[in-house]
Amino acid sequence: MYTYSSPRLVTVRPEMDRLDQYAPGESLEAFSARTGIPLGDIIKLNSNESPYEPAPSVLKALSNFSSYNHYPDANSAALRSALATYAGVEEHHIVVHHGSSELINLLWHLFLSVGDNVLCCPPTFSLYTSVTSFCGAHVLEVSRKENYEVDIDAVLTALTPQTKLIVLTSPNNPTGNAISEQDILTLLDTGRIVILDEAYVEFSDRPRGFAHLVPQYENLVVMRTFSKWAGLAGLRIGYALMPDWIQAYMRRAQCPFEVNIAGHIAAIETLKALDYTLNDVRRIVEERERLFAMLSRYSFFTPFPSQGNFILTRVDESQVKVNEIRSAVEKQGILLRYFSQPAMRNFIRVTVGKPEHTDNIDKALHTLL
Ligand SMILES: *Cc1c(COP(=O)(O)O)cnc(C)c1O
Repeated sequence: MYTYSSPRLVTVRPEMDRLDQYAPGESLEAFSARTGIPLGDIIKLNSNESPYEPAPSVLKALSNFSSYNHYPDANSAALRSALATYAGVEEHHIVVHHGSSELINLLWHLFLSVGDNVLCCPPTFSLYTSVTSFCGAHVLEVSRKENYEVDIDAVLTALTPQTKLIVLTSPNNPTGNAISEQDILTLLDTGRIVILDEAYVEFSDRPRGFAHLVPQYENLVVMRTFSKWAGLAGLRIGYALMPDWIQAYMRRAQCPFEVNIAGHIAAIETLKALDYTLNDVRRIVEERERLFAMLSRYSFFTPFPSQGNFILTRVDESQVKVNEIRSAVEKQGILLRYFSQPAMRNFIRVTVGKPEHTDNIDKALHTLL
């Protein structure tokens, strides 16, 4: 038997030492174990999940189906056809996958070699950074302006010959603002692959997003997910709209049967019962305004207007510390999102929940006055 002693005969790629594990919002189970609060009493507002369950017809279709012993359709023809109608682009532009996180992983691996870079505009979704390191590539960070708009001039100046991807989230997580069409067109003109992550587009003022640009450009990829607006985070279903040439490479790189049958059924049924789910989206958008007004009443908060299902607020730590807020709300079983990056330490992101969730946060905050 070969015994590994130091130095090991085989090690992982050297770039792996730069890889930080992505830290998702704390799970219900972990929070319950840490605080002793029963699972059923927790209000989970830290991962931008929907507070509403899928439509009854979705749940019924999942339980009525029984042929789970077969593989799903590797072409996902029925789902891609339903998505084509929903997104308003033809099926050959659509790739489906188990969550848009995995689409990010696959796309990055298609384009990035060791030494390449990806241009990101922080603060933004940090998964882009961990996946970039996994490819042995680097992130080129161009900070957003004070109002969180993308600094287009700074982006254009920062590009290098090794910049393969420009990634933009719209509405942006965690800041909540959207990008303008003019800015997207300017970035497309750079010839880099522009990845537009529209995970929250259904909650925005422009719920159809920029899908209509996909057939016109050879370098635009629009990413979407059923995790946020459709209440299907647990089933892992995402899709992307892209030009044919990238689509062909994606399909080649993908392992077969990536989206499970339950994911196919749930997504197709959600699109059939679209009015039901869009009504939940409407309730969340209404509640976002109530949550914004509630947060604004506390002098230590400066909330930012949001087009997503979450609100980012700055905390004036000369009045109250983020940790004091955290322990006050956690005592009431409320999970919010906190940040470890130095620039974001005095910020909290709150997912929009049901009206009673807003009221519960309000009550917990009152204990601080
Ligand atoms: C939540 C989120 C995703 C991940 O979506 P999944 O489909 O659940 O993997 C992607 N992008 C952004 C910006 C998100 O906030």
